[in-house]
Amino acid sequence: MSTTKGPMLPSLLEDDPVAQAAKGGSGSSSRGGATSKIPPQTLKLVIAVVAIVAAAIISYVNIFGGENTQARSWQRVMIDSETRELFPDFPLKFGDTMPFVNPKTGKRTLYQAEMCYWTKDGKAQFPGIPVLLNEYLSKAEPTTCPDCGRRVTFNNPPPPANLLDAARNQNKGK
Ligand SMILES: [Zn+2]
Repeated sequence: MSTTKGPMLPSLLEDDPVAQAAKGGSGSSSRGGATSKIPPQTLKLVIAVVAIVAAAIISYVNIFGGENTQARSWQRVMIDSETRELFPDFPLKFGDTMPFVNPKTGKRTLYQAEMCYWTKDGKAQFPGIPVLLNEYLSKAEPTTCPDCGRRVTFNNPPPPANLLDAARNQNKGK
């Protein structure tokens, strides 16, 4: 967490009045010259800001992911509305909104697929079938799974945990 925010710190500190007041220290940084030592208060402030940002990202991921305790191995699969190509484990950027940019075409055509874990005969399968919701494309008709024909909705409810676990274990054995 601390390493990813590294490049942002120098510019933050330069704008900080506390840091500017403490000007005149040794110039031991990579910028070479006018930079000053970081006072402890400033360092605490920076750490606090980083902590707040991290907390915001975590809560964002929790809300956006719509975490479902039944589906422990949550799959976040994106599906392209034009090419129908799947993007498993698509990396979400903070503040990004759907539709996401397809890294291959550069177009905003990626939607989060809802997973259907049902089979035609009422059992579960794992991995599930990624389904693109009609709602995202402003289509009036309800979304159905192309595999089992069941209705698929936003935050699609998974099969009961025991069925899903059985499917998952079966898949492991293969
Ligand atoms: Zn299905």
